[in-house]
Amino acid sequence: MAATKGLFAQSYAEARARFLAAADAAGARIESEPHPLRGPDGGTLAIDAALIGPADASKLLAMTSGTHGIEGYTGSAIQSKLLKEGLAERLPADTALLFIHAVNPWGFAHGRRVNEDNIDLNRNFALPPFPENAGYALLHDALVPGEWTEDTRAKSRSAQGAFIGKHGLEAFIAALSTGQYTHPDGLFYGGQAPSWSNRVMRSIFEREFLPRKTLAFIDIHTGLGERGAGEVLCTEAPGHPVFELGRKWLGPDIRSTSAGTSVSADVRGTMKSALIDLLASDGNERQTMAISIEYGTVPQDRVGAALQADNWLYRHGDPESALGREIAREMRTVFLVEEADWAETIHEQAARHVGNALKGLAST
Ligand SMILES: [Zn+2]
Repeated sequence: MAATKGLFAQSYAEARARFLAAADAAGARIESEPHPLRGPDGGTLAIDAALIGPADASKLLAMTSGTHGIEGYTGSAIQSKLLKEGLAERLPADTALLFIHAVNPWGFAHGRRVNEDNIDLNRNFALPPFPENAGYALLHDALVPGEWTEDTRAKSRSAQGAFIGKHGLEAFIAALSTGQYTHPDGLFYGGQAPSWSNRVMRSIFEREFLPRKTLAFIDIHTGLGERGAGEVLCTEAPGHPVFELGRKWLGPDIRSTSAGTSVSADVRGTMKSALIDLLASDGNERQTMAISIEYGTVPQDRVGAALQADNWLYRHGDPESALGREIAREMRTVFLVEEADWAETIHEQAARHVGNALKGLAST
């Protein structure tokens, strides 16, 4: 264990302190938007935006962490390490760097993927009429049992297995994870209105992204795919300029959720899609690359069970109980691999993609 200590922060507060120190040392101008709620330790929660380089630069490299709360341990570590290793000194001419820390600070601090309203932020950027998801309604009762015991877990697994038997695995993954807008207490709930984080991010997009001409946007996630594999994924399909710019700059391994080539389902209402729509809305010519990097951790069924347990805990259980702490530890384990080889590969891949994005920006 000793070797792995210090690879990642132990709390949101520690991750935030590391990020703010690294950003400050790199000469960033930091704007913090405080969240109305507090962390479990009573501490401040905020979205922190660190801007480096000319304020009026026509090119921007932006990276977000913690859109899915607890996944922020990885994104935060990547942001802090890139800053510490002098990324700010390697910016091409006319290029600014914007690192946005903890898009969902409440979830990050509480060790959850959802936000304070049980909303999956990366489904919350959809506009009404919201996408329908009839499959989710069929699964809901099995996914969120009133009790969390060996017996209810076994029943849930068998109901999910029956759904897969009847409709197929692809339909199951789509029903479960593309997002649903009908069950506020359920999994992958997209909400009925823009959440706090959504509103703050849209204002940052308008202030810092709209004035630019060429943009590279990277949103860091964990929990899907093979252990340590970092998939570069785009919501747009091959042929779309946003996808093609990603392919040109980051290489042929880029995947598309809408074309069905990604580890992720074809999710609606993502932050990336909202940004792409915003940048296309004012008629100005831009070059935009908008991707996520999704780092694999542990097998999917284990991630799914952890999300079910976490949902049950906050609906029916006590986070301070022994079972509550066990569920919290499992959440951290399924979204963060605290092992040296995993840390090394995620940092190496992020540095490579960021370096390629900067080369791309420099070439325009
Ligand atoms: Zn995620």
